[in-house]
Amino acid sequence: MRIKLPPALWKALYPACSGTRQSPIEIGLVSVVLDLTLESLDLSAYEAHPVGNNWTLVDNGHSVQFSAQFNAPPQIQNGSLGTKYVLTQFHFHWGATDDRGSEHVINGTRYPLELHLVHRKFNETDAQSTADSTGLAVVAVLFEIATGTETANPHLEPLISAVSQATIPNAPVTVTLPDMKLADILPQSPSYYRYLDSLTTPPCAEAVVWTVMKRRVKITETQMQIFRSLRVPPEPTPASDRSLHVEAGPPEVLVDNFRPTQFSVGRVVRYHPEVYLVFVD
Ligand SMILES: [Zn+2]
Repeated sequence: MRIKLPPALWKALYPACSGTRQSPIEIGLVSVVLDLTLESLDLSAYEAHPVGNNWTLVDNGHSVQFSAQFNAPPQIQNGSLGTKYVLTQFHFHWGATDDRGSEHVINGTRYPLELHLVHRKFNETDAQSTADSTGLAVVAVLFEIATGTETANPHLEPLISAVSQATIPNAPVTVTLPDMKLADILPQSPSYYRYLDSLTTPPCAEAVVWTVMKRRVKITETQMQIFRSLRVPPEPTPASDRSLHVEAGPPEVLVDNFRPTQFSVGRVVRYHPEVYLVFVD
C-alpha cells in the first residue's frame, strides 16, 4: 500500500533524513564563497543520443524520471570532482504555481521547476555510491518562465512532448526522441554553486556532491502545465469499500514535489564564476 509520508516524518523510517548534511538548502548570495580553485565542469557525451534515440520515462508518483541505454553514457568530470561520474537518470521537481517548485532556493527565490541530473561514481555500484560521502554527483538546473520578449529554450520541446505521454502513473513509456540532446537543455554558462550534501528524497543518503548551475533556463507557462498535468497513483480502495461501489474521485495531480530547505548554517557553498579575471603585466 502506498503511504504518503510528509517530509517532516521521513526521519521515522529513514534516520539519515535528520542528519546534519541534508539537501536542499537556500543558497544565500551573501554566504557564497567565490572559489577560483574550483575547476570548470566538463560534460562528456552530453551530445550523445541513446541507442535507437529511445528514452524511457515514468511518472513514479514522486517525479517524472528519464533513463536510457547509451553506447557511451553521458559523464561529468573535472569540476573539482576528483573522478568521473556516469549519468544514471534525470528527473524534475515542480510546483502547482510559478512561485514554487524548485528544491534549491537562490537568495530567497524559489523557481517553478528544477532538473536533477543524477550521476554515480564510475567504479561504484548503487549500494556503494550511497554509502560513499561523494558517491553521487547531481547537477541541478533551475528553470524560470520566459516573460515579455524572452523566448523559451526551443530544445525543450522534445522533452516536454515526452512528459505529456506519461499519462499513467507507474507505467513506463518509451519514446523515440531523435532531436533530444542533454547538452541542449543545460544553461550555456559554466558558472555553478558547489556544496556537499544529501539526496532530497528518502533514504536521504549523505552522499551527494551538488553542482547547482547558476544560470536559469527559460520555459513557457504552457510547458509548465504539462508537468502539472501528471498524476499520482490512485489510493487503493479498502476491501471493505469495494462492495459499496464507491465512486473514485478525480485523480490527484502531481505537483509541489519538492522538499523544504534544510538547516544550512555553517555550511560552505562555493561558487565557480562565469569568467576568470587574468592579471597580466
Ligand atoms: Zn531530485
